[in-house]
Amino acid sequence: MQILNYINGELLAPKSGNFLDNYEPATGKVYGTIPDSDSEDIDLAVQAAKNAFPNWANCGNETRAEWLFKIAEGIQKHFQEFAAAESRDNGKPITLAQKVDIPRAISNFEFYAKAITQYHSSSHSMEGKAINYTLRQAMGVVGCISPWNLPLYLFSWKIAPALAAGNTVVAKPSEITPATALLLSKVCIEIGLPPGVLNIVHGSGGSTGTAIVSHPNIKAISFTGGTATGEKIASIAAPKFKKLSLELGGKNPNIIFADCDYEKMLTTTVLSSFSNQGQICLCGSRIFVERSIYEKFKKDFVDRVSLLVPGDPSDSATKMGAVVSKSHMEKILSYIEIAKNEGGTILTGGKQRFVGGRCENGWFVEPTVIEGLSYDCRTNQEEIFGPVVTIMPFDTEEEVLKFANSTRYGLAAILWTNNLLRTNRLAELLECGILWVNCWLVRDLRTPFGGVKDSGVGREGGFEALDFFTEPKNVCIYFGNN
Ligand code: NDP
Repeated sequence: MQILNYINGELLAPKSGNFLDNYEPATGKVYGTIPDSDSEDIDLAVQAAKNAFPNWANCGNETRAEWLFKIAEGIQKHFQEFAAAESRDNGKPITLAQKVDIPRAISNFEFYAKAITQYHSSSHSMEGKAINYTLRQAMGVVGCISPWNLPLYLFSWKIAPALAAGNTVVAKPSEITPATALLLSKVCIEIGLPPGVLNIVHGSGGSTGTAIVSHPNIKAISFTGGTATGEKIASIAAPKFKKLSLELGGKNPNIIFADCDYEKMLTTTVLSSFSNQGQICLCGSRIFVERSIYEKFKKDFVDRVSLLVPGDPSDSATKMGAVVSKSHMEKILSYIEIAKNEGGTILTGGKQRFVGGRCENGWFVEPTVIEGLSYDCRTNQEEIFGPVVTIMPFDTEEEVLKFANSTRYGLAAILWTNNLLRTNRLAELLECGILWVNCWLVRDLRTPFGGVKDSGVGREGGFEALDFFTEPKNVCIYFGNN
């Protein structure tokens, strides 16, 4: 599979003629190439986006909504191809791509097609004197950069609101998972999206990503990825006064009180720990369990997790696939070593998993549960972003709150309890942008999405994203007598 850039409505090789290898995680083999784009390609994309901007910004909300619906329909038309590509490129089980990734990418375009027709601004009346109203105007060319864990899901989560609001876009998917972005380019060509409205440029973060972030004609950057990358991006973009939305790393607590609905909690906790091989920024990787049910939970949880055996992602019976790259697998395994050195006991998993057949050289890690660690050790403070969780007992609400809030991150938290007063107390005190109570990953696209502390700046989702991708302008009309 040769990936190409999508610039000004055409599929193009990078100017330099250089390509990078694209690997299939389940086999560990190269199965395609992707453009190693640089600032010349970004210049071309930005120019195309600049040329397309006036017509796109002025064609009206209804017309842009129609285009977004057409993109959604185009993805739906090629649904199985998208799902197979996502699974192959990322290593995730095909059923996950079919149930979550691709349906959500479709929903993202549909949601913002509808949302832009409902978007409104405010007015402020100064009685007898003047009226203020706020225009929300498209900004121009904006940059969208997304990570590899939920490739099309997160890519479209940025592109859809940016386009809906009237901006033209230069977007970069992760070089590790470029396949569905190519398929999206093909859909845009198939439906005849006006050239330059969306441009997709492939390549490494250091080269292509930096060229987007530093380009003088890109007005805003919406980024999802690691906290260290977010820091680099902010250091380039902030002095240029670009608008920035940063969705960064996490180390989410999963807090389990004895009064919860135990069976539901157990089933959901397996999912919230290991879905997508634990490579979802919202996974709960630190599991705190009230001491009275700790031993029971430990046994039941380990029993369930032991049944999760990594296998060929293309097999529809597989529940756990490969991790995304060799270097990422090595990072995960190195954290398991760190956990052991810190005194942790591996209750299940802990090793690379060798899957036979066509996957004999693939990158698989056993789902791993560790106990015996303190809340403030490295394993419990640093983001591993793989199928590794720790379990720890707690005695009181105050204690677990301290444990939960102890990291530099504050993306999401999960809380299991049937005590309403406790829920309300902890909802106020937990340091996070998203709290799930007695559930996980239940998503209403209208709600604000993002983190506090080192998990990010700004919010995506609903009208928040449309606010981000527009510039408010206050207009004051005076009608008083003096
Ligand atoms: P990275 O930060 O490595 O990469 C994210 C994107 O940024 C990729 O497209 C990458 O390109 C690009 N990039 C890398 N360096 C630069 C740079 N200097 N300038 C511009 N762009 C750059 O994250 P991962 O892809 O490894 O994703 C995992 C991380 O994402 C985890 O920390 C996870 O928590 C976080 N995440 C956060 C979410 C949230 O909503 N808060 C959701 C999902 C993930 P390339 O891949 O080509 O290097």
